[in-house]
Amino acid sequence: MLSGQMPILILKEGTQREQGKNAQKSNIEAAKAIADAIRTTLGPKGMDKMLVDSIGDIVISNDGATVLKEMDVDHPTAKMIVEVAKAQDVSVGDGTTSAVVLAGEFLKQAESLLDQGVHSTVITNGYRLAMNEVKKYLEQLAISAKDDKSLMKVAETALSGKNADFSNEMLAELVVKAVDLVAEERSGKFTVDASNIKVDKKNGGSTSDTQLINGLVIDKERVHPKMPSVVKNAKIALVDSALEIKKTEIEAKVQITDPSRIHDFLDQESETFKEMVEKVKKSKANVLMSQKGIDDLAQHYLAKEGIYAVRRVKKSDMEKLAKATGAKIVTNLDDLTEKALGKADQVEERKIGDDRMTFVTGCANPKAVSILIRGSTEHVVSEIERSLNDAIRVVAITKEDSKVLPGGGAIEAELAMKVRSFANKVGGREQLAIEAFARALEVIPRTLAENAGMDPINTLIQLKSEHEKGNKNYGIDVLENKVSDSIKRGVYDPLRVKQHAFEGALEVATMILRIDDVIASKKTSGGESPGGAPGGMGGMGGMPPY
Ligand code: ADP
Ligand code: MG
Repeated sequence: MLSGQMPILILKEGTQREQGKNAQKSNIEAAKAIADAIRTTLGPKGMDKMLVDSIGDIVISNDGATVLKEMDVDHPTAKMIVEVAKAQDVSVGDGTTSAVVLAGEFLKQAESLLDQGVHSTVITNGYRLAMNEVKKYLEQLAISAKDDKSLMKVAETALSGKNADFSNEMLAELVVKAVDLVAEERSGKFTVDASNIKVDKKNGGSTSDTQLINGLVIDKERVHPKMPSVVKNAKIALVDSALEIKKTEIEAKVQITDPSRIHDFLDQESETFKEMVEKVKKSKANVLMSQKGIDDLAQHYLAKEGIYAVRRVKKSDMEKLAKATGAKIVTNLDDLTEKALGKADQVEERKIGDDRMTFVTGCANPKAVSILIRGSTEHVVSEIERSLNDAIRVVAITKEDSKVLPGGGAIEAELAMKVRSFANKVGGREQLAIEAFARALEVIPRTLAENAGMDPINTLIQLKSEHEKGNKNYGIDVLENKVSDSIKRGVYDPLRVKQHAFEGALEVATMILRIDDVIASKKTSGGESPGGAPGGMGGMGGMPPY
């Protein structure tokens, strides 16, 4: 140990810095602002946000993670809150709005304690104690949900959290069926790899045309009308090189002086394509999927051989096809052997709206399923896609854990009551913080009521009195505008989603409360920020994590 010498931080003159109470205050304000911005989207009666970017493209969404991802957030603390939504989205797929709203409320409640002179360490301690209680009770209050009927309710709750107007029941059924198809049972426990469910969308038609396909859908048509439109017992070749003759980089000129020679030249070209197609034929493939282009002449020969071919298939689709059919993606046609081919019962071109798509069904790997979303416009199908992705994740989680909690703010109201009685036992200054934690939990039922146009104060009083009477599953019925039993109404949230949301919200709130100094730091090159949030706090423009 050095002789008690403190490191001295010497800042350049003019460095931007905020310290102590000021730093805390402005951090809390920024976090609250983010939470306030998205709290109106919470629940079935939540409103949507329209995000318009600098070139006028719009995204209309009610999904917390999506809204925050699209928002151009600048404040460092606000970005930390956005990270919570992202983390929630990546790990459990739902509960993003709840996590952010809760984080904002933890900070809001902390702010009033700070104003009363309670030190932030006391607050974070109290919050931690309260959280330990919450974790204990969450397990106890969870309800077993094993059958498809319960899974349906989980799916419907996740879908209605977004929008009450979709054909939720039908979509929920598709989601449950899809999850059941890909679930794997090992010694009585299920594991679900949700990435086996491919979600595709095509605007046009109505939401009720959305369908589940036992296989994959590729948004491509066959390249030549003379090719068969259906291939049974498909043997599929996946090729990531072009069936084209490479154009030279420099402009090349072929000069033909003798008119009879032009045939030789064309024959030569035609011969090359013939050879290419011959190689495909030799492998015994009757379907060819190319990630690159296929020349007109090659198309012609493929059609002649009765081979179904599509071109410019997306790389991600090629990978999914490989996984689903057991095919190997080959780069060189010479490597195309029968062993490299994938298998499916049928490859078929179907007309969907105005477009033609390729359906690959009955794949060698039965765990490959797709949901093809239909809806009137691009914005509608995109929002359904986001909702479906949430629903798939929560149903998958519930299939794995078989544990759910009453939704509609019921669990938060019950936990608030439990935490309050715990606060009395703790006493001291921490008691204030634990009580603040309980108040913060109530932001969920309060916001659900507010968003449904109900009186938040009266509703909360009613809700509390039901819970004191022992009606522990009572929550906000946003459709009937009253409080009633959420389990009876079939409003189920998965246990894991709530656990994750509570913990994520608390972690970020605690982290923000511990900061008492915000200093403009030196620009780091290469984007490395030691100790910074993983993924870079500035990386908001990134791709969705799935
Ligand atoms: P999040 O991003 O947090 O999932 P949502 O907008 O999906 O936000 O809203 C989720 C909240 O809405 C949960 O508390 C859930 O219990 C509640 N909820 C969903 N459906 C209903 C319903 N039919 N009645 C009452 N509450 C509901
Ligand atoms: Mg939700």
